[in-house]
Amino acid sequence: MNVEITGKGTILMGSKFAADGPSDREVLFVSHAHWDHLAGLKRRVLESQTVVSSAATLDLASELLGFRPRNAFALEHNKSFRAGDEHLTIYPANHILGSAQALVETKQGSVGYTGDFKQPDTPVLQPDTLVIEATYGAPMYQRQLGEAEVAFVEIVEKCLKNGPLTVYAYAAKAQEAMSLLNGFVDANFLLDEECHKMAQVYSKHGYKLPRFHQLSAAKELDITFGSNTVIFKTLGKSNEKCIGTKIVLSGWSPSVINTIRGGYMIRLSDHADFTQLLQYVEESRPKIVYTDGSRSSYAQVLAKAIEKRLGITARAAP
Ligand SMILES: [Zn+2]
Repeated sequence: MNVEITGKGTILMGSKFAADGPSDREVLFVSHAHWDHLAGLKRRVLESQTVVSSAATLDLASELLGFRPRNAFALEHNKSFRAGDEHLTIYPANHILGSAQALVETKQGSVGYTGDFKQPDTPVLQPDTLVIEATYGAPMYQRQLGEAEVAFVEIVEKCLKNGPLTVYAYAAKAQEAMSLLNGFVDANFLLDEECHKMAQVYSKHGYKLPRFHQLSAAKELDITFGSNTVIFKTLGKSNEKCIGTKIVLSGWSPSVINTIRGGYMIRLSDHADFTQLLQYVEESRPKIVYTDGSRSSYAQVLAKAIEKRLGITARAAP
């Protein structure tokens, strides 16, 4: 078989390439720097592999892993990496900074892997075999484009009138949220250590962010936690005592805005919703689709919907 998804979430493509998880393959492709795509990558194993990803993913992943893989190869979009008689080409994916899809071409046919993505701005690959993410692969996950983004900016503007606020988000989502506020909200942006490290990588790669400082340097910089302060902290700290109004950014919640103790939870998703997933497959027209069940509970639901609605053979894997 030209493709397999292992129990550890590794996507095996052709005979030489693996993606987003541990394996003994020659080349590892990392689609993007989210933990569920870096899980199980041990330094010892990575030293024996060639790691291929976009330059930005390599920088972000090195921050998260705490080391830079020795045999790392930063690949530009639409460029290929060859291993034996197979080659892997990367294409952009709209998800977080550096996210990429991969197309592996072999003598047995081609395999496309979307990694995580959302629309617009993710080009549709047209391989023989498609591996697609299934994070929100059930019909209940549908949204209006831009609705949550507008709600987030409006809530921040409203809350800042009453004092400072603290936004809790996964490290890479914090930068996306900051970029939404750029040009709308004139405030001091203070970032905890992890958000700050990631924001520096985003800036290095040309991502437009408002001017920001490290939270621990606020005193030195004479920044008080007044009404024009927005603090960003990683999601894991959301149970700590919060400065000002609390805003928690979640991937999915029942409605766009939910009231929580001390503030709001806002649904700000980096993933394709159910309709976008089906649209991708419809435009791709592969011979067979594998939905990634290692990172989602909805892979079966999505595979069934693809077969029933589009008439394309689909399986959840593993
Ligand atoms: Zn992701």
